[in-house]
Amino acid sequence: MGIRSSKRIKLQEAASPPGEEKIFQGVAVAPGIAEGKVLIHFQEEETIPFRDLRAGELDTEVVRFEAALLATRKELMELQERLSQSAGPSDASIFDAHLLVLEDPTLIEEVLNGIRREKHNAEFVFQGVVHKFIKTLAAIDDPYLRERAIDLEDVARRVVRHLMGKSGQRLAGHDRNHIIVADELTPSDTATLNRGNIAGFITEKGSKTSHTAIMARSLGIPAIVGLEGICNFLENGSVILMDGYSGKIFLNPSPATREIYQVLAEAKEHIEEGLESLRESDSSTLDGRHITLAANIELPEELDEVAATGADGIGLYRTEFLYFNRTVPPDEEEQYAVYRHVAERIAPHGVIIRTLDIGGDKPTECLDLGHEENPFLGCRAIRFCLNNPEIFKTQLRAILRAGVHGNLRMMFPMISGHEELLHAKSLLADAAEELRKRGVPYQADMELGIMIEVPSAAITAGMLAREVKFFSIGTNDLLQYLMAVDRGNERIAHLHDPANPAVVRILKMIIDAAHDEGIWVGVCGELAGDIEYTPLLIGLGVDELSASAALVPRVKKAIRSLDLAACQEVVAHALSGERAAEIYARTTGLARSRYPDLF
Ligand code: PEP
Ligand code: MG
Repeated sequence: MGIRSSKRIKLQEAASPPGEEKIFQGVAVAPGIAEGKVLIHFQEEETIPFRDLRAGELDTEVVRFEAALLATRKELMELQERLSQSAGPSDASIFDAHLLVLEDPTLIEEVLNGIRREKHNAEFVFQGVVHKFIKTLAAIDDPYLRERAIDLEDVARRVVRHLMGKSGQRLAGHDRNHIIVADELTPSDTATLNRGNIAGFITEKGSKTSHTAIMARSLGIPAIVGLEGICNFLENGSVILMDGYSGKIFLNPSPATREIYQVLAEAKEHIEEGLESLRESDSSTLDGRHITLAANIELPEELDEVAATGADGIGLYRTEFLYFNRTVPPDEEEQYAVYRHVAERIAPHGVIIRTLDIGGDKPTECLDLGHEENPFLGCRAIRFCLNNPEIFKTQLRAILRAGVHGNLRMMFPMISGHEELLHAKSLLADAAEELRKRGVPYQADMELGIMIEVPSAAITAGMLAREVKFFSIGTNDLLQYLMAVDRGNERIAHLHDPANPAVVRILKMIIDAAHDEGIWVGVCGELAGDIEYTPLLIGLGVDELSASAALVPRVKKAIRSLDLAACQEVVAHALSGERAAEIYARTTGLARSRYPDLF
């Protein structure tokens, strides 16, 4: 992806940093080069301390609480001012409701009385009162009041942080040249990132297919993960240079290093410009095999970027991101409006809307997932939806209605077997029937597909293919479940290896089963955007690749530089008993010989 115009680094302008250069090696998960000041991000969710107050402490505690309210007010007003300058006063007015919360006499009275009555610390009492308010608001069937519950929760987090003496701000409000460094960023943290504000991010945890990495690629900013202990080496304000191609981080980069990277950044930018010229060209191999090339999105904010890449529509819309950072799930009207907007913006191209894939590494406050020992093996995705039919059908109705306004397809995630698919299909039929009874227009013949990301689905792919119109292979999860390797665990990330012969065999099995039943099959996991593996995937016979928008131009160039015969040869060797290292060498060897400039 390289350096995009909005993120161009100006290494020569930065002041010469003091201190000796130190190099750290992590796992590169989103390409690009950035230099900036470190900003350490603490997790949003705080463990609320609990303390009994001694008699003389009551007044101090009240003063502490009032000071936290004032500090939060100041923080919000600053944010409002900044937003007003960047987005205009009407957008900034969203903070009016937040500010009103801070002046709410009932809330404040109740906390002050609580501190005096219960003789507990302010954080604890405040959190209890806020919880009670949120629960009451969230239960009322009024969209306005439910919105207030979200405001209240956001304000409460800020107040608690001030009470606990943590000045950490939300990720959204930082200056452009900051590089966020964190132990871990949740998908909901990254969803609040403002793409214009942050130069890159680095985390101690995570791997190539963790959702944090996926978000970084969507945002088009460099990211490096798996740097255990890095938070202890860096401080707020440290100057670092990060290389999102190799995974290297330079603390206090020397003039020589910065010179090297200036040259590299310019070269990458040049290549990027070359890729832009492919925008309108066809994604077919040299010998004419057409591969549909689509983009993955998490948020509608990415639509402009998708349009700019020249992708053939959206191959995976991860709708669960609509459920993040809020206390109540979106209702049918809200979802309908969002899906309709996406469908209209991308038309005449199509959009594959994936139904809610919550759970695993994507928890959300607005749905009660319960505690699970193994969330990736638990009640996630379609399992959660089948257990919660009303939540599921609300989404299904919204998607069916939006289908009237564009070219939509729908797919279910994490299908593990035939019964499960039939159950989901029967709820889909119920949702359609509900709309019919209500007399609301909807698309009755929307194409339905499933994600193949569980080995049991791969093994029974032939049976499943008879029930749907297409497959989309979720390699992130498929590899995780095939090899029993947590996709977000940096300690075993080497086992999440697409070149493993078991992976090649299972992909072949799925693709052949789909074709035998006359349906098309795509890949929408991160592997689809990894140009080292494009030869292998084309050779296996995929019909569609769907990758982060930022990677689409690279994949197009890769497809256009390959021919089917050479790709099939890679696969033939891979299936003939080669080991992972040999498979990798062969696919990347072909890739590097055909498009060396992209490496
Ligand atoms: C996958 O598992 O490959 C996939 C595309 O879905 P997600 O990454 O959202 O789990
Ligand atoms: Mg998945």
